[in-house]
Amino acid sequence: MELAKHEVKNVKTKSLKLEEYMPRSELVTERVKVTKPRFPVIDVHTHFGSLVLGEDYTEGYDTAREVERFKEAGIKRVVNLELVWGGELDRLLEKIHPHEDFITTFSSVDVTRLDEPGFERYVRRTLQEAKGKGVRGLKFWKDLSLSHRDKSGKYIALDDPRLQVIWAAAAEFGLVVLHHVADPVAFFKPVDRYNERFEELSRVPEWSFYRPGLYTFEQLMEQQEAMIRDNPTTTFIIAHGGSYSENLGVVSKWLDQYPNMYIDIAARINEFGRQPYTARRFFERHQDRILFGTDAAAGYAFNYQPYFEFLETWNEYFDYSSSGIPGQGRWKIYGIGLGDAVLEKIYYKNAEKLGL
Ligand SMILES: [Zn+2]
Repeated sequence: MELAKHEVKNVKTKSLKLEEYMPRSELVTERVKVTKPRFPVIDVHTHFGSLVLGEDYTEGYDTAREVERFKEAGIKRVVNLELVWGGELDRLLEKIHPHEDFITTFSSVDVTRLDEPGFERYVRRTLQEAKGKGVRGLKFWKDLSLSHRDKSGKYIALDDPRLQVIWAAAAEFGLVVLHHVADPVAFFKPVDRYNERFEELSRVPEWSFYRPGLYTFEQLMEQQEAMIRDNPTTTFIIAHGGSYSENLGVVSKWLDQYPNMYIDIAARINEFGRQPYTARRFFERHQDRILFGTDAAAGYAFNYQPYFEFLETWNEYFDYSSSGIPGQGRWKIYGIGLGDAVLEKIYYKNAEKLGL
């Protein structure tokens, strides 16, 4: 027997390209199936417009059918996050009509007008109009600091005093601000053999922000913190786990320090679920400030099941996505078995508290 083993060891193994390697786990553990959430869910991070679906999004889906599809998954309401204003906002609202009770919309302002005289007036007018049309909050995206430049050629920092009017007016008009500030830390690092998101970044190179001249991840986090700290009356939902779900110690410190900060968990169960002990403590401690979100988009397949499984069960080492090679890093996740009271807050009560 021993000899046979030794012989096998000496057999020359074939080499394999990383992209071809798809190991199947032989681990056998008890696994609780969750197809429906234990409580109704408000998904605060979805897209029904051009941000994900492109300019011709109105052709991309049938609104009534989408509402049914979300409902079947156990979702009781969604927040639709789009970078629209003026006529584009009207077009979006027309597309979701008459399902406003199910689809809550967040709109935005044109930050590229920052240097124009009267920017403050423009912002206040735009927000007031949006509010009048039933918009509940404002959406901002990473392009604000990573792609737009002001007229001096400088990228726009989140704590730029010229943006102050936006945060102040949002508070004044009772609009929540949801901001997707950065991307995974690995997107700001060299795309090489040490990068934990190498496969994804080599497939979609434009997601890399490792370029001279751009703000670093650390700079963006400093700006994010300053924005939240300097605007205590504005409610901020920092999307994707507060931008830094790789480091929940830091996000936890921010949540302790800034009562106006909330986070959503959209597209980050890969991060939370690979650190189940830390994540469970984090979700317990900040149970009043964490919102359920996914990044689901109208007309596209979505997969709520791993989210429910992560939050509700103690299941071990399962896939966070249904794609063959996991898209957000080659690892599996673990459930954090939250109790009913915490689950209810994360699934819908915290969102309701914010009027969503
Ligand atoms: Zn999104």
